[in-house]
Amino acid sequence: MATHTTKMLIIGSGPAGYSAAIYAARAMLEPIVVQGLQPGGQLTITTDVENYPGFRDVVQGPWLMQEMQAQAEHVGTRMMWDTIVTVDLEHGSPFRAIGDSGDEYIADCLVICTGAQAKWLGAPGEMELGGKGVSACATCDGFFYRGKTVAVIGGGNTAVEEALYLTNHSDNVTLIHRRDSLRAEKILQERLFANPKISVVWNKAVDSFEAGANGMLHHLALTDTVTGEASTLEVDGAFVAIGHAPATSLFVDKLPMDENGYLLTDPGTPKTVIPGVFAAGDVTDHVYRQAVTAAGMGCMAALDGERFLAEREYAVQEAEAAE
Ligand SMILES: Cc1cc2nc3c(=O)[nH]c(=O)nc-3n(C[C@H](O)[C@H](O)[C@H](O)COP(=O)(O)OP(=O)(O)OC[C@H]3O[C@@H](n4cnc5c(N)ncnc54)[C@H](O)[C@@H]3O)c2cc1C
Repeated sequence: MATHTTKMLIIGSGPAGYSAAIYAARAMLEPIVVQGLQPGGQLTITTDVENYPGFRDVVQGPWLMQEMQAQAEHVGTRMMWDTIVTVDLEHGSPFRAIGDSGDEYIADCLVICTGAQAKWLGAPGEMELGGKGVSACATCDGFFYRGKTVAVIGGGNTAVEEALYLTNHSDNVTLIHRRDSLRAEKILQERLFANPKISVVWNKAVDSFEAGANGMLHHLALTDTVTGEASTLEVDGAFVAIGHAPATSLFVDKLPMDENGYLLTDPGTPKTVIPGVFAAGDVTDHVYRQAVTAAGMGCMAALDGERFLAEREYAVQEAEAAE
């Protein structure tokens, strides 16, 4: 068990964490990134990424994240294969965190980039066909289904928004919901029902995602939740849209969160209510949820962290000069 001291501790190694690290390392803050259970974050479980700026051709999610990690290390970031299990924010800077390894981290400032996870149904075939027809992100993958038949599974705001978004690419979008009414806001429902490209299948649960001979998603096996009748729906793509869970259990009763557990920050900034503690990426963003927005917020958090440390240093010098 060791103690690691740093000017900036970054918890999480998705696009937000690695971008914060790149900026912090180049500002000579000698950051430490604690990578967590999913080094590289959510993009490591996808295949084609076509919307991250800088690459004309499609790149693979895991490759992109390896490159970000390599860049962060190249400029001087220390990577830790550890997962933070407790944090002490109560006493202000320096902050203390303990890893699953038993190691202790002492940091002048903290950037929280623990991200979020899409919720999945847990149905057979769902994980196996990820990137082969099954997705949890229409903004990310809708473009791959231009002119094809797609289904969205869910009944809340996320599902309705995903269905509406997909009509930019497909004339044949089916929303599948296990009940006979939607939970989504009224205004979204009105837009959904008014859209001729969308049809709604009520009272149906998805039992499994089935592949065709080519190994890609071919159809969904459904059960009627009222009659128990089995049916199938042929689709090229299925988007599971039953919400996201931000990874914020570490911060319960320590930092303000919204009703869904997303960390709250000063509007337009990564600053939390505790000076020196910043949050960036999907852990604080339930709206955009993209690699490029997470990376942008990571950059902002590192810059604000740098300013926080510089101002503190300046205040110490002023106090010493006044003595
Ligand atoms: C299947 C799929 C496909 C996607 N495709 C695209 C796409 O094509 N384009 C796009 O822009 N976006 C895409 N996204 C969204 C994109 O992946 C996310 O918006 C982005 O990864 C968010 O980055 P982040 O850094 O905030 O967090 P994440 O990527 O969620 O990373 C969170 C990190 O925090 C770590 N962590 C969590 N808890 C702890 C802890 N206690 N201690 C230490 N570390 C911890 C995890 O190990 C992980 O490294 C996709 C998402 C999914 C799920």
